[in-house]
Amino acid sequence: MIPAQFDYLAPTTVEEALAALGEHGDDAKILAGGQSLLPVLRMRLNAPEVVIDLGKIDSLRGIRDDGDAIVIGAMTQHSVVEHDPLVEEHAELIHKAVEHLADVQIRHRGTFGGALAHADPAGDLGAPALALGAQFVIQGPGGTRTVEADDFFVDLFETAIGEDEILVAVRVPKHTGWGSCYEKFVRVAHQWPIVAVAATVKVENGTIAEARIGLTNMGNTALRARASEQALVGQPATEEGVAAAAALAAEGTNPPSDLNGESAYRKHLATVLVRRAVLNAAGA
Ligand SMILES: Cc1cc2nc3c(=O)[nH]c(=O)nc-3n(C[C@H](O)[C@H](O)[C@H](O)COP(=O)(O)OP(=O)(O)OC[C@H]3O[C@@H](n4cnc5c(N)ncnc54)[C@H](O)[C@@H]3O)c2cc1C
Repeated sequence: MIPAQFDYLAPTTVEEALAALGEHGDDAKILAGGQSLLPVLRMRLNAPEVVIDLGKIDSLRGIRDDGDAIVIGAMTQHSVVEHDPLVEEHAELIHKAVEHLADVQIRHRGTFGGALAHADPAGDLGAPALALGAQFVIQGPGGTRTVEADDFFVDLFETAIGEDEILVAVRVPKHTGWGSCYEKFVRVAHQWPIVAVAATVKVENGTIAEARIGLTNMGNTALRARASEQALVGQPATEEGVAAAAALAAEGTNPPSDLNGESAYRKHLATVLVRRAVLNAAGA
């Protein structure tokens, strides 16, 4: 299908984009890589009067070292994130999740910020962002504010970004030296996971000192497996040490039932994938 007619704006600064958002309000929609928005427009699930393309705003692209964190510009394509040495060294979990996100073509068009702003609970980036304690830098007419990952995902396809705001960057605290693993369970390659687990683990003398685990597609938003995280601390990084904690992975989750699997099946998957991901991240 062909989208409903809309006006197209391509500002070259964030300030211009914000002014356009302010002027058109509810009638406007931000365009990043278009890999989620364009299908929505083509199916006429949304028909904005104005589309504001962020593609010409150079300041929204790139990855930089910011001391104890790396900063990923919202318009940085998945393919750039995938091959960036800073991401691989300091946020290996994101590197591993992006490697398996969609296919090469989509990774070249889709953006890091666009995927997180889209907030699909089956999207691959929410769980690593939660596990790494990412901070979302959001700019609006009143200036810039930072939202912690735990407060960013509000509901199905809903985030803390206001209607008059733009996600400009994501700050990812460095987890240099932590082990990591992204376990993605799919029926069809290059697609969204039925369930996925993002785990990053700090091991000291064979014992798990800290574990952070994000869950994909286990509720209306990406989630933390907090019961497992707490139970893992102090455990030996062995099959026996991890098993009981992994069994708690689905605690507090409410996964959907659909053609790919029932809710109970997803809960079972979460426990299996958390066990695998933690053991792999811990190098066991
Ligand atoms: C066939 C196919 C397979 C896919 N498989 C996967 C997969 O396996 N895993 C996965 O995670 N994803 C998958 N995707 C989605 C892909 O990751 C998209 O890149 C992503 O969902 C959206 O990013 P985008 O840059 O294209 O954003 P767009 O589609 O341009 O925008 C998405 C939404 O976010 C809003 N938005 C975008 N940027 C901003 C911003 N800076 N500030 C505020 N709002 C913003 C837009 O208004 C829109 O509502 C797939 C897509 C397709 C088409």
